[in-house]
Amino acid sequence: MGAVPEEYDTVVIGAGIAGLAAGRMLSDAGQKVAILDARSRIGGRIFTERANVAGSGDVPIELGAEFIHGLPAGTWDLVREGNLGTYELQGSQLFFIHNRVQKSDASHDAASEVLHGLKCWAQEHPASDMAFADYLTLAGIGGAAAQAAAAYVEGFNAADQGVIGAAALAKQQRAEDEIQGDRLFRVQGGYDRIPRVLARSLERNGASILLNHSVRAVTWSEGAVSIHTTAPTGRTLTARRAVITLPLAVLQAGSVEFSPPPAALMAQARRMRMGEVVRMSLVFRSRFWCGDDLLLAPDEYEAVTRLRRGLSGLEAQQALELLLERTRQTSTNAEFLRQIQLAA
Ligand SMILES: Cc1cc2nc3c(=O)[nH]c(=O)nc-3n(C[C@H](O)[C@H](O)[C@H](O)COP(=O)(O)OP(=O)(O)OC[C@H]3O[C@@H](n4cnc5c(N)ncnc54)[C@H](O)[C@@H]3O)c2cc1C
Repeated sequence: MGAVPEEYDTVVIGAGIAGLAAGRMLSDAGQKVAILDARSRIGGRIFTERANVAGSGDVPIELGAEFIHGLPAGTWDLVREGNLGTYELQGSQLFFIHNRVQKSDASHDAASEVLHGLKCWAQEHPASDMAFADYLTLAGIGGAAAQAAAAYVEGFNAADQGVIGAAALAKQQRAEDEIQGDRLFRVQGGYDRIPRVLARSLERNGASILLNHSVRAVTWSEGAVSIHTTAPTGRTLTARRAVITLPLAVLQAGSVEFSPPPAALMAQARRMRMGEVVRMSLVFRSRFWCGDDLLLAPDEYEAVTRLRRGLSGLEAQQALELLLERTRQTSTNAEFLRQIQLAA
């Protein structure tokens, strides 16, 4: 006997953050919504495991997304809605290079400078595009600066510098600047609390989140979609429309069959590339590094302490003016701290 079709206004494929957010908007608008996911959990590439660490209880370990980059309104609305605790990362990034733990601040500053230059170049040449590696050559950037910028792009974007487009990177940089994307925040109890906020409100709206429902085929015409899932569920759901939030790699692999195929869309999807990344998280029995403040070098630490002391004695307006003035006058963090140290 065939499975009984189920009727919805919209079926969303994928219960990652994109699918949950789309489902929530539609169900808030009064639609009957189902969200399908092949996995036995929601969240997709947001995936928090918990490790029991002696003395600390359950510690969240992020296997997927870890940071809220800057102040994107949609994410922070969910943080507030779920009353979630967050904290901002301070101090320096440490790298283990040549058997020594080393800070990467100089390299980070050099990369930022190159990306700032790229943004200006893209504004002046709106019709130009090329691989980031070719842009470096064109702009005459070589040596340590090129190495730092390439390492940043390949590390942060998981993208081959010979493939990722300069125009897209410049666009991303502009978008990041608008939300202070260089600031990093973590969700205290684990990033997966954010998709859970959406799932809770979807449940309140009466939407269905159907896990272990792997979609194998989508047949559609204007205003009517049938979504066929694999065994053992083998269910077919019908809806007036579908929202597809499958990852690019799944679309490119063709593991979900679309009939008729959305040819123009698939042609664009084939032109895009996904970087590959392997993530390893290490859990240490005890903290071998000092408090966050001490991740700063001793001279920076002293400068920050002076900054705090100096500013605490000033009127709010006066302190703000000093900070703004020094921000405008300086181009690196180290220089900014030095200047504040002198003024305070
Ligand atoms: C290691 C790593 C670290 C990251 N770090 C950050 C970070 O710090 N900050 C940040 O902002 N972003 C980060 N990202 C990126 C971020 O995780 C993703 O951009 C985001 O989670 C993607 O959400 P999505 O809903 O578009 O896709 P996904 O989360 O991939 O959701 C797609 C869903 O589709 C489902 N699916 C696939 N095939 C089928 C099928 N046939 N039938 C039904 N369902 C199917 C999948 O199970 C999945 O749940 C990181 C990503 C990774 C991998």
